[in-house]
Amino acid sequence: MGVYNITVLKGDGIGPDIVSEAMNVLEAIGKKYGHTFNFNEKAVGGCAIDEFGVPLPDDTLEACKNCDSILLGAVGGPKWDHLPSHLRPEAGALLKLRSSLGLYANLRPAIIHKALSAASPIKAEIIGDSLDILVVRELTGGIYFGERGYREGKYGQEAFDVEAYSEYEVKRIAKQAFEAAMKRNKKVTSVDKANVLESSKLWRKVVTEVAKDYPEVELDHMYVDNAAMQLVRNPKHFDVIVTSNIFGDIISDEASQITGSIGMLPSASLAEGTFGMYEPIHGSAPDIAGMDIANPIATILSASMMLKFSFGLIEEAEDIENAVTAVLDKGYRTPDIYVDGTTKVGTKEMGRLICENI
Ligand code: NAD
Repeated sequence: MGVYNITVLKGDGIGPDIVSEAMNVLEAIGKKYGHTFNFNEKAVGGCAIDEFGVPLPDDTLEACKNCDSILLGAVGGPKWDHLPSHLRPEAGALLKLRSSLGLYANLRPAIIHKALSAASPIKAEIIGDSLDILVVRELTGGIYFGERGYREGKYGQEAFDVEAYSEYEVKRIAKQAFEAAMKRNKKVTSVDKANVLESSKLWRKVVTEVAKDYPEVELDHMYVDNAAMQLVRNPKHFDVIVTSNIFGDIISDEASQITGSIGMLPSASLAEGTFGMYEPIHGSAPDIAGMDIANPIATILSASMMLKFSFGLIEEAEDIENAVTAVLDKGYRTPDIYVDGTTKVGTKEMGRLICENI
């Protein structure tokens, strides 16, 4: 029986709709297992710009630094698109949160539930009736954070961005991947471009070293171009994929697209230790905000990842996953995953049904 302090950042668009349902689900878990979840709601993104003039107020960042974990909805929307990038909700809030909190590991499961397998754009004979891949992306290093600039070159002005990784950075993300694989099907595919890039050669060497500490886990290496192909050709090859920031950005989006349902996919961004920020992979969907039709499952499954990765509450996390599966198996669908013959429900009703199945 534990007490957990969660900073809640509902954000913009559908953020408030979907995060409220994830909070209800955590309450239901608390009631069943005797845990207390203390929610501290703070402003972030466009709504913080409107209220405080900045996308990440100091008070919000302080609350994020002084809690056990963060539950985030989504930020951004057309209202704030004209602002300079450091004031935009996405760059000004999300990138700053990641770097200020040392969130170096991004975990994105790409899961196809049996009941939704028809939604995948991949042929049934390739995808089978379900799929479960975990992409572990390095989040605070590499080319997105490397040296950059402009200089005079042979043919006039040129621009450059540097991809650099230290042994330390590769080792800690590789460990995350192997630890995750130990709780799954014990297979890691490390994705790099070691036939061309020095940074990838170091990446491959360090990942191979880390693998020695996990003899039960099978490791293979794959060039990123091949990985992009295999994800659509033979996705069942993969269990855990570990890769750099830029490759992970692309590969994780590709992996999520083959599931066919953006409203279903959660994510975790982890710091060293147990601290993490949990959010759905989709954006703020301003087109459907406040209409009680957004799918809350990605956010609810993000809360489940929080229980698993930050609080070590494995049984409780699985309880949420099983409740989601049960509700889908009974044929309930939000409009984004609705097909003929199923029962259409709104955001609140989907949240209520999941609570009822806990
Ligand atoms: P989006 O993910 O918000 O929406 C894409 C499409 O998917 C829309 O049609 C939307 O209605 C639908 N959709 C998304 N989530 C859904 C859900 N839970 N249930 C049902 N349908 C859902 O992407 P976008 O339209 O490119 O971006 C909208 C805003 O969100 C932009 O301002 C963008 O910058 C921001 N954004 C934020 C994040 C984040 O906060 N992490 C991530 C991506 C985009």
